[in-house]
Amino acid sequence: MNKQKSNIYGNGLPHTILEQFADLTGLKIGKLPFRYLGVPISAKKLSTLDCHMLVEKVVDRIRALGTKKLSYAGRLVLIKSVLSSLHSYWARIYIIPTSIMAKIESICRSFLWKGDPHSSSNALVAWKQVCLPKEQGGLGVCDLRRWNVAAVGKYVWWLMDKKDRLWVKWVHSIYLKGIDWTAYKPSQGSSWAWKRICRVKDRLISGYINHDWLENDGIYSIASGYNWLGEEPKVAWHSLVWHSEGFPKHQFISWLYVQRRMLTKDRLSRLFNCSELLCSLCLHADEDHDHLFFSCSYSKKILLLIQEWTGLEVPERDILSWRQAQNLNRRKTVSLIVQALVYHIWWARNNCHFNQLVWHPEIVGKRVQSDVQNWMGRVSKVRKQLVWS
Ligand SMILES: [Zn+2]
Repeated sequence: MNKQKSNIYGNGLPHTILEQFADLTGLKIGKLPFRYLGVPISAKKLSTLDCHMLVEKVVDRIRALGTKKLSYAGRLVLIKSVLSSLHSYWARIYIIPTSIMAKIESICRSFLWKGDPHSSSNALVAWKQVCLPKEQGGLGVCDLRRWNVAAVGKYVWWLMDKKDRLWVKWVHSIYLKGIDWTAYKPSQGSSWAWKRICRVKDRLISGYINHDWLENDGIYSIASGYNWLGEEPKVAWHSLVWHSEGFPKHQFISWLYVQRRMLTKDRLSRLFNCSELLCSLCLHADEDHDHLFFSCSYSKKILLLIQEWTGLEVPERDILSWRQAQNLNRRKTVSLIVQALVYHIWWARNNCHFNQLVWHPEIVGKRVQSDVQNWMGRVSKVRKQLVWS
């Protein structure tokens, strides 16, 4: 009986050249899609089902490290690690479906703000801003959608500059057929991937013409395209929050503080219609950002303790103006103090609000002092003693 075997092209013809080659070499003929290093290899658009594994990997990695007990800063480190090891790799290889990128963003957003990848999150800051570089007001989390566009930008650049590549020659002969690439529009019947490459070309074209997104040596890199696609003005408070010697959990709270995004009672009342506005620490005024930091009599006592400790004169209104110092070391030290003050006042407020536990301001002041000294000692043994002149 002449039994027909189905080859990888599915035409049922026996003994193709490929099958003869397989017989000779002992190699097995595979079928698409298959997996290589855990990534599905397919000649077609990746389906949502193919990419579901990517979503599961993100959730598994997050769950594996125990989660709710992590601080915001700890969750941020985990998100950056998960995204850089998973989606950056995938995004370099594939044009990832938008629905999958939205799902991964949602998981990361929920985890950052709630500690649970599947919780519905009330984000304190929009994900778009979280994904900006720190100098531009974000947290420096990689923006998967932008990274994927930048990764596809590599093919756009090849078509412009790498005429000797086999793939480029193939595209020119099949699709472009003598048409200028910068003005090319795909036909309705073109493949999903080719249309996506053409859309990315339209986004990048002005930058290419002005040489904006190429490195100095005229080479395109995904990083250079990524940065060009998302450039925003730098924020003035960047160095206050993110200088290299900061305490990560203090820095995260300070990042919220400078943007006035902490969930003080006035914001809670607007977001969730809460009626309780009275400051839990002093019981004399409504709690809002300006009151808590630092008009509140409780916060002021802590500020005065820090003033006694450092000899710095506490500003009447804007605590950020403390940083107007000429000396770099002093500016860094003042930044550490401002960050520790914000963190510990918020800690004292939360203890009071959620646990009905009121810490004496002197204890909170000591915690500020201890954190600053310990952190400075850890960063540089030479600067264990604060130098104020
Ligand atoms: Zn108060």
